[in-house]
Amino acid sequence: ENATPFTRCYAADLAVQLSSTLKTKPEVSSFGTVFTDHMLTIEWSETEGWQAPLIKPLGNLSVHPACSSLHYGIQLFEGLKAYRGDDNQVRLFRPMLNMNRMANSARRACLPAFDHSELLECIRRLVEIDQDWIPHSDPASLYIRPTFISTEPSLGVKKPCRALLYVILCQAGSYFNKTAAISLWADPKYTRAWKGGTGDCKIGGNYGCSLFAQYEAVDYGCQQVLWLYGEDHQITEAGTMNIFLHWINEDGEAELATPPLDGIILPGITRQSILELTKKWGEFKVTERYLTMGQLCSALKEQRVKELFGSGTACMICPIGHIIYQGQNLHIPCHDENSQLTSRISKELTDIQVGGCVHLHKLRH
Ligand code: PMP
Repeated sequence: ENATPFTRCYAADLAVQLSSTLKTKPEVSSFGTVFTDHMLTIEWSETEGWQAPLIKPLGNLSVHPACSSLHYGIQLFEGLKAYRGDDNQVRLFRPMLNMNRMANSARRACLPAFDHSELLECIRRLVEIDQDWIPHSDPASLYIRPTFISTEPSLGVKKPCRALLYVILCQAGSYFNKTAAISLWADPKYTRAWKGGTGDCKIGGNYGCSLFAQYEAVDYGCQQVLWLYGEDHQITEAGTMNIFLHWINEDGEAELATPPLDGIILPGITRQSILELTKKWGEFKVTERYLTMGQLCSALKEQRVKELFGSGTACMICPIGHIIYQGQNLHIPCHDENSQLTSRISKELTDIQVGGCVHLHKLRH
């Protein structure tokens, strides 16, 4: 009875209950509104450890009203995509990096550890079952949303003794208008994350708390918030994207710079990929360094800015055209011939996503 709890969940124990009716797939939908036919669930409890994973028809969850993920936000999520290539194969882009990031978030949220490759194999099966949801159009992808919540049915602020890890899939749609540069609103009165906080984890509280500022940005006619930090107004992230500045730095060198992972930056998979890719090119300096609004403003004045862009799974690369900051409307030169870097990175990453990364059915091997 008091057997050691299963510390791992095993994909080999996966049970599959297929839906008897399949939904019709709408051609156009906005991000995150239309979900596929199935979901993956894996339950965990302190006494019994991980239960056998289950793929079943997508449906509502039933949780106790005291559930501590609802009261205290003891939860986390991930976001990655499955891409269909010209060869009709479905691929996942660096999914192990998402598993690792998810494990870091779980540690910080006091949710239990899980086996990365076993979970990934369960996700692979789910995507395989619902792969007809990935359109055959270009660029076609499916958004994968692993979620991990405490299901502890009591009001104590404590480590959960029950949890549920589940994965849902949805049509990705287009997050932003792909070609258009976005506008950002930067006001140091709001802070997305702080040293010692949870900004480097993908936990819901970080996002719920950002909404108020996001709506203020919209009131100012901007699409996203440029999150600043500290007395010197460090540039940290753009909305839910990492940020990159392609410029001639203070020493006159061509440089691609992004803020370092010092705890307040979400370690983006796209960010890491852009750093690795551009370092490999070896054509300009690639740096993780602090960037402040003061440095950006001087560089703009001296015409040293080539491009500023956000990066993330949803939009991949998103050029930034304007920033409203301290009553000024800063114009970022990204529509001219200088904007070649964003298109080049975009093209190289897309080529990997639709043809250069591991096939769904080969993932296990
Ligand atoms: N920053 C934040 C705050 C995010 O939520 C995301 C999306 N996960 C990113 C950056 C980009 O990360 P990724 O490239 O892994 O999508």
